[in-house]
Amino acid sequence: MPGFTAMLEEELAGLAAANRLRTPAEVDGPSRTTPRINGRPMLAFCSNDYLDLAFHPALAAAAAHAAGRDGFGASASRLVAGDLPAHRELESALAGHLGRDAALVFPTGYQANVGTLVALAGRDDLVVSDALNHASIVDGCRLSRAKIAVYPHRDASAAARLLADGQTCRRRILVTESLFSMDGDIAPLSELAEVAARTDAVFVVDEAHAFATVGPDGRGLCAAAGIVPDVFIATLGKSIGAAGGFVAGPQALRDVLVNRARTFIYTTALPPPVAAAAAAGLALAAGAEGARRRDRLANRCAWLADRLASAGLTPNPQHSTGPIFPVVLGDEARALSVAAALRDRGFFIPAIRPPTVPAGSARLRLTLSAGHGADDLERLMTALIETAR
Ligand code: PMP
Repeated sequence: MPGFTAMLEEELAGLAAANRLRTPAEVDGPSRTTPRINGRPMLAFCSNDYLDLAFHPALAAAAAHAAGRDGFGASASRLVAGDLPAHRELESALAGHLGRDAALVFPTGYQANVGTLVALAGRDDLVVSDALNHASIVDGCRLSRAKIAVYPHRDASAAARLLADGQTCRRRILVTESLFSMDGDIAPLSELAEVAARTDAVFVVDEAHAFATVGPDGRGLCAAAGIVPDVFIATLGKSIGAAGGFVAGPQALRDVLVNRARTFIYTTALPPPVAAAAAAGLALAAGAEGARRRDRLANRCAWLADRLASAGLTPNPQHSTGPIFPVVLGDEARALSVAAALRDRGFFIPAIRPPTVPAGSARLRLTLSAGHGADDLERLMTALIETAR
């Protein structure tokens, strides 16, 4: 098509004019907290490596061992010939850790959300979803062809009304993140669980950011609230330090997903070294080392929450004590200029802009890791006060 490149260039020019053009920075270096960005050493506050496990030698050793035993690539989907020891070991460890009957691993958390929602909901069903749920939940809702009803962020009463209106649907599904990825606040999980029970809805919780990061033995925020959701979803690419996603729940849920989740069925299984690294990350996260790292992280988070509040930089009164801190700056241009000023000073915190966050709420999304030192945080606060206020 002759005009194809011109058409694409026009689209890119439109994004650039709106300050919405995005390009990945080139990252390398020895850790997620002290990477080189485009060749320059920086202090970074933007990874999801909350427990600082991505560079842990136990993960690399487990991956190397599995590559020798199971091969690097799985070479087939799970249902054909790709159901390998590393997958089975990881799934039984996940189910055991969470005290659930069964777990099913997907190549990514994104696929776990999409596949689960598409498997559980269809044309005759209703999905009730928080307004700030992650893109993978939104896409799963849309692909399911179910009726979708979105409730205002964290509003359990609104969710209850929408579910009550859907009593004639075949199934009702209530879906939320637990620790919200861009705002760092927490869903009212006890109220939502009660609403789901009362309206006979399936309760689906995405604990992507909370799993291994918070809660008893790192089991997340449902465990912290004493709730057992019907469907527990999380990623292995954040606190666990590896990659992949999973669903945990009753055995029948696993069996239905194996038969109905298209993002599980029609894709090559997670590479065995990645599954083995995830199992090693889980073993660390679930044990004494994980507990130490969560304590250190929680102390850093409490310190930063306090300092940001005194500096007038936390607009969200619902902010939790988790590791995600939004500093909302407004329009794209302002967020970009503050991010650039921080980068000049040696701090890497990319601006998060629409469509990732709603228009008018472009922000810095600061994340902390157990690998950050107390002096790193002091330096961050000084730089933030100089640039963002
Ligand atoms: N759910 C939430 C809330 C997320 O933030 C993410 C990752 N950004 C995902 C799901 C997807 O997980 P993964 O990165 O493993 O695809």
